[in-house]
Amino acid sequence: MPQKRIFSFGGGKADGNKDMKDLLGGKGAGLAEMSNIGIPVPPGFTITTEVCTDYYRSGKKLPKALEGDIRGAMKKTEALVGKRFGDPENPLLVSVRSGARVSMPGMMDTVLNLGLNDRSVEALSSRSGNPRFAWDSYRRFVAMFGDVVLGLKPEKKEDRDPFEVILEAKKHARGVKYDSELPADALRELVGEFKAEIKRRTGQEFPDDPYRQLVEAVLAVFRSWENDRAIAYRKMYGYPSSWGTAVNVQSMVFGNMGDDSGTGVAFTRNPATGENEFYGEFLVNAQGEDVVAGTRTPQKIAQLEAKWPAVAKQLEDTRLKLERHYREMQDIEFTIEQAKLYVLQTRTGKRTGLAAVRIAVEMADAKLITKEEALARIDPEALNHLLRPIFDADRKKEAVKSGKLLAKGLPAGPGAASGKLVFFAEDAEAWHARGEAVILARHETSPEDIRGMAASEGFLTAFGGMTSHAALVARQMGKVAIVGCEAISFDYHARKMKVATEKGERTFAEGEWVSIDGSSGEVLEGRLDTKPSEVVQVLVEKSRDPKDAPVYREFAKIMGWADGARRLKVRANADQPDQATTAIAFGAQGIGLCRTEHMFFGEGKIGPMREMIVAETVADRRAALAKLLPLQREDFRGIFEAMGPRPVTIRTIDPPLHEFLPHDEAGQAELARATGKPLAKIRARIDDLHESNPMLGNRGCRLGIAYPEITEMQARAILEAACDAAAKGVKVEPEIMIPLVGSRKELDDQAAIVHRVADEVLAARGQKVKYSVGTMIEIPRGALTADEIAKTAEFFSFGTNDLTQTTFGLSRDDTGPVLAAYLEKEIYSVDPFVSVDRDGVGELMRIAVERGRRTRPGMKMGICGEHGGDPASVIFCHEIGLDYVSCSPYRLPIARLAAAQAALKEAAATKKKPARRAGARNAGRKMAARKVARTRRPGKAGRR
Ligand code: PEP
Ligand code: MG
Repeated sequence: MPQKRIFSFGGGKADGNKDMKDLLGGKGAGLAEMSNIGIPVPPGFTITTEVCTDYYRSGKKLPKALEGDIRGAMKKTEALVGKRFGDPENPLLVSVRSGARVSMPGMMDTVLNLGLNDRSVEALSSRSGNPRFAWDSYRRFVAMFGDVVLGLKPEKKEDRDPFEVILEAKKHARGVKYDSELPADALRELVGEFKAEIKRRTGQEFPDDPYRQLVEAVLAVFRSWENDRAIAYRKMYGYPSSWGTAVNVQSMVFGNMGDDSGTGVAFTRNPATGENEFYGEFLVNAQGEDVVAGTRTPQKIAQLEAKWPAVAKQLEDTRLKLERHYREMQDIEFTIEQAKLYVLQTRTGKRTGLAAVRIAVEMADAKLITKEEALARIDPEALNHLLRPIFDADRKKEAVKSGKLLAKGLPAGPGAASGKLVFFAEDAEAWHARGEAVILARHETSPEDIRGMAASEGFLTAFGGMTSHAALVARQMGKVAIVGCEAISFDYHARKMKVATEKGERTFAEGEWVSIDGSSGEVLEGRLDTKPSEVVQVLVEKSRDPKDAPVYREFAKIMGWADGARRLKVRANADQPDQATTAIAFGAQGIGLCRTEHMFFGEGKIGPMREMIVAETVADRRAALAKLLPLQREDFRGIFEAMGPRPVTIRTIDPPLHEFLPHDEAGQAELARATGKPLAKIRARIDDLHESNPMLGNRGCRLGIAYPEITEMQARAILEAACDAAAKGVKVEPEIMIPLVGSRKELDDQAAIVHRVADEVLAARGQKVKYSVGTMIEIPRGALTADEIAKTAEFFSFGTNDLTQTTFGLSRDDTGPVLAAYLEKEIYSVDPFVSVDRDGVGELMRIAVERGRRTRPGMKMGICGEHGGDPASVIFCHEIGLDYVSCSPYRLPIARLAAAQAALKEAAATKKKPARRAGARNAGRKMAARKVARTRRPGKAGRR
């Protein structure tokens, strides 16, 4: 059967439905569904995403039969609307919009009012009896077509849109402030001037054949799938280029038909807080792009009631109908044409993490969705939002009192951020790359700014409402943002921001510090300290009563549901007692990795450590280690006591020794003094320890093999601390872990030392303490020989940082330039150091699990690489049957939720049919891909 390229909708029915997003795009599927359930939708049709992919596959050519199909579909639309496309007397006008399977706000192109030309504009004018409206529509169409189809853009970053410049000049000449004040004849002049500019810059006449306009616009939408901002956006969220975009051609309804018309966008619940209220904005006498572009600050939806009560009622009914039908918060676009409501789009509304949790909890409590659905709907990363710092209320009060409050805007992205002002997205990127915290401040943001927005701590715009581009992106990226802050204005050329304050105008230059409170909308001068979020105050600081913490209570509910659903346990990577306490507060069921080397940098330890490293004889080394023993024992005791009966995995020393030595003159001289050795000797030892490739050098178990007395000391410290804690009634069970093992003999060597020391300590103390010795699987040989290694190892923990490094042969410390190019060219779809590479690293993990448990059935296995806190990797760990994931304390809530989602997905797939693996795997991939944007590159010490 020939491929169906076009799906029509309108008149209470449609060819498609909501489940056809892959083919019709999100917008097309939504329009079809709304038609099917009787919501007033202007009729039209959707050209499928397959046509787009065919277009690219065939060297950017449209299928031959497409034009015929379009004409056929147009006939159906004409019949429903009662107008004809291209009719000079009663013209049907259409909008042409992109629509990928996921929402990519503003990344691709749209053309409105298509079908107008010099003849039909007159017909529109006389039939509507409103020449101003007709010419306003025409000038908008020419500008949009000029921009989107013919490519007339600003030439330099400081330049403005060429049509905007002409429009500004016209307003100036006519002495008016707003577009809506321009009379019909001025708009008619604008059409001529726009066309002349197009001719001047492109050498082309503006096309007046409507079908030619339409085909060119369809082509432009397809082309926009590969524009820079769409590519950047896809990369950020890991969407493949192979999806393509659909094109929606829809009969126009006009929000600019006069004062009984308007346009708006609304959310069925508040997208910033999650409150169950109809939340949105509208503009009178305007077209849709005016709201989204944020060039005029709109009115609140609540004000609609007073203006158009009948429409407000219809809209409220639509809100309830859509929520009940989709069982999900919706984001809608609507137009009111001469007091009649039309809905142009519905889609799942983007929301802040805060709102995501509240909406899920409230919908589940109201039985609109199940608890399982509530869990599935929250992106685990969104929980970060609830942990994000806020400004200390007292400090902010002080700042306000001392006159630092500059202005107030709309609170679009909650949280607190301080940073240096920058005014251009590319500067935000560059400054961020050199380690500066920046706040991107602009008149308004546009999709081109997406990378700079990702690089900034937060953003601030002068224009736009809660549904403007900046607000949308803030919610999606989880950024702090204030929009519509009308007191600020910009001189981009001078790189200055002006603020009209109560006490007069203030000017701020690029690089000056500002602080923004995205929960209240306040902009403050200078840098303001932040403090922990409500959840952290309750859980970690214990400074707030849960009764007074509504956000915490919702968070706790979700966590409780997640814990009830998950199979995977969660542990934390922690090496200090206070970190252990925080980890427990966030739900840790144990410690999965205590990196003992971090302890050596603690109080009083680095001196003896260095002494040990520069020692020339075993006796000297032992003497230095003897100084370290009590210190390290104290560390372990503190951790055991903090963790109580929970398991604690402690790893023996791992990094190359040179990392502990001073590399500066003064430090070396100090070490010489402390050890009584000549400076030259110290330098010689440092030179000796130099390695060309330290990540693959003398580290991990190799150190313990070369210097067994180090392992001895560590084993003794662990077991003595365990005895001390046990003597106090703590039920300890240390798991001693040997790193970087690639062969069983390495582990045998180290395990023998641990067991010998344990025998000695336990005999000397006369105590019994259960302990185990296991290994990290972090190099491919370890994974491949896991069956052998498991003869000695009592447990495995996957060190996926090193396993990724060694599997890819890519140094974890030098990924920057490589990954930039690889992600750019889509050679990797996701940073493998962020999300487990299922096909390579993951395959080695599967092998190790299978072979390890073949030798030792039921062997305990976990993961402690950074991937343990990455949702997609957590899902993978569930799939391959690990027992737990271990991650940094603040990522524990994310891991708990991701683990619950993994279990629920598995349960759902098992119920459906046995071929569940592929589905679960794809879901995991999708999540993995979304994580490209998350940068997690702590410094060396932080990583290891
Ligand atoms: C790992 O390699 O994944 C790991 C946890 O060890 P480290 O990061 O300390 O090398
Ligand atoms: Mg490692």
